Amino acid sequence: MRRSLIVAVVSLIGLLAIATVASADHAWSAYHFPSDNLNPTVVDKTSSSLYDVTAGVQEWAALGTPIQPQITTAKKGDITVTEAFSPFWLGLARIFIDGDHITKGEVKLNTKLLDDYPAGAADHVLCQEIGHVLGLNHNRDGAQGGSPDDTCMNDQVNLFTTQYTSPNSHDTDQLNANYNHIDPSAGGDDGGGGGGCPPGKPDHPKCSASEASGHWVTVHVFWVD
Ligand SMILES: [Zn+2]
Ligand SMILES: [Zn+2]
Repeated sequence: MRRSLIVAVVSLIGLLAIATVASADHAWSAYHFPSDNLNPTVVDKTSSSLYDVTAGVQEWAALGTPIQPQITTAKKGDITVTEAFSPFWLGLARIFIDGDHITKGEVKLNTKLLDDYPAGAADHVLCQEIGHVLGLNHNRDGAQGGSPDDTCMNDQVNLFTTQYTSPNSHDTDQLNANYNHIDPSAGGDDGGGGGGCPPGKPDHPKCSASEASGHWVTVHVFWVD
């Protein structure tokens, strides 16, 4: 069971790598939050002192791009950050997609393993997984991404010696490119915003893109070396 899941994840990464070689960008496919939910809320369910999720979220908002995640003290939100354990990864990101639109996201952080790394490593991984949930892929200088690659979206660093704990200007550029449009059906996606599908009116445009038609995608894993 576990083995087949890993194989599926690895093959997805292979496909993504092929798909993104041609362009020097680092968008995670075309995935993005719909334009009627550019202020996705983030729920911090971590308890370890390794993480400052509020600061991590604010760092992405501070880039000043159209996507403005914000921490919430509510029990539910668009993005949930939790701790979890695996022998294989330090962190991972999942997004729930409806077409190209992200309707919710999850970040999992492996406290038990991150505890053995220098302090900045947990920050690097947290920053990267939030970036994935906002629609970014890895930024590896060269074939995928571009200069500068001194960003937490760089997954090619040795976290014992190098930690990039913040996004950089290339991430700002990529998010500005991802979020430079208004979706024609703004308001039609169940992005956690207002409105929604009126009961008893299945033909209403706001009922056409309910979460029931979407699915989870998990590809972004910060592997243990
Ligand atoms: Zn859109
Ligand atoms: Zn990653």
